[in-house]
Amino acid sequence: MDHFLYRNGQLHAEDVAVQDIAATVGTPFYVYSTATLTRHFKLFDDALKGLDHLVCYAMKSNSNQAVIKLLSDLGAGMDVVSGGEYLRAKAAGVPGDRIVFSGVGKTHEEMRMAIEGGIRQFNVESEPEINVLSEVATSLGATAPITIRVNPDVDAKTHEKIATGKSDNKFGIPISRARDVYAHAANLPGLEVVGIDVHIGSQLTQLEPFELAYRKVAELTETLRADGHMIKRLDLGGGLGIPYERSNEAPPLPTEYGDLIKRTVGHLGCEVEIEPGRLISGNAGIMVSKVIYVKSGENRKFLILDAAMNDLIRPAMYGAYHDILPVVEPEPGREHVKYDIVGPVCESGDTFAKQRFIPPVASDDLVAFRSAGAYGAVMSSEYNTRPLIPEVLVHDDQFAVIRPRPTFDEIINRDTIPTWL
Ligand code: PLP
Repeated sequence: MDHFLYRNGQLHAEDVAVQDIAATVGTPFYVYSTATLTRHFKLFDDALKGLDHLVCYAMKSNSNQAVIKLLSDLGAGMDVVSGGEYLRAKAAGVPGDRIVFSGVGKTHEEMRMAIEGGIRQFNVESEPEINVLSEVATSLGATAPITIRVNPDVDAKTHEKIATGKSDNKFGIPISRARDVYAHAANLPGLEVVGIDVHIGSQLTQLEPFELAYRKVAELTETLRADGHMIKRLDLGGGLGIPYERSNEAPPLPTEYGDLIKRTVGHLGCEVEIEPGRLISGNAGIMVSKVIYVKSGENRKFLILDAAMNDLIRPAMYGAYHDILPVVEPEPGREHVKYDIVGPVCESGDTFAKQRFIPPVASDDLVAFRSAGAYGAVMSSEYNTRPLIPEVLVHDDQFAVIRPRPTFDEIINRDTIPTWL
């Protein structure tokens, strides 16, 4: 459930009419709902009640500092995957002891930054990384808490580009080699092994792959404990999917996911962390765009919008589906029209939907893309010298621009022309 509903014939974000935001900030833009973000965080937090736990929001899904602060104020930890995300979390006021650092390619500099600024744990992913972290921590006279990310070789049954738990993916160490790698890490200075980490992919719409992975982690916990390691924390990753196509998708609920966690690892007495991103921010945001032209092709109608693949790349990159609806509520029973819904970028890949039936719209009408709060703004670019689009946060009847649209001067003046030209 989210807080984007028609009221009095107009799409609202909580108590704010979307067209009022458009009139103030121009189009296209993203708008996020405080109530939805809050609700989604609490669903996870409640689902893990009874376990010592921390919900570490995966900032990669939407890293605007207003979103981070909102979630952090509710008690969320953060899962970061770069030095930049680490600094963003700190800038938004997240304490270091609630930040976990994931990712396969952490640099010396990122490790140093996180050790100096405070970190809950590094989720390390390879032997070379373990060695470098040991060196960096030792050189700083510090001890870095680590979990080791294991790759359980489980098929997440999701899009291949966001599956991470199979043996041919770049992530984690093969679970079959875990005992050796833990023994190696335990012997190095500057490291404290605190647990195990696993993350098998994103947009999972079934619980079974989680169950397979978590059972393997539970077994490994017992084995490593028998080897003398103190496994007190399990980071179980993120990945629970959301219904993008609401008419025919119903992924498992956070409560079912929480029950699964309790069933598979609850008996181990570990502190449990999870790293959900998409389920917290995805349906908490929409992207709003204006129709520039309706163009008739040889055999189809094109709806040409002022938003493009640079603003929301998921359809072009993953063939992803987003519900697209008019901001003015269509009259009941109005016949739908079939469009190819596209942006103005000079690539045929700049297509949001092909042959999609939606209520008829005309030039200057506004349309909203649902489920755009995750992996939307964060993956946008200025391709075709199109400014990054504003992000807006709504709270009841108030709204605030939380990232303004840059001016063309700001974009163009970032380039420098060498003196020899
Ligand atoms: N944790 C890690 C290590 C990830 O790589 C990701 C995303 O792929 C997530 C958490 C968040 O996944 P999701 O947004 O699907 O919950």
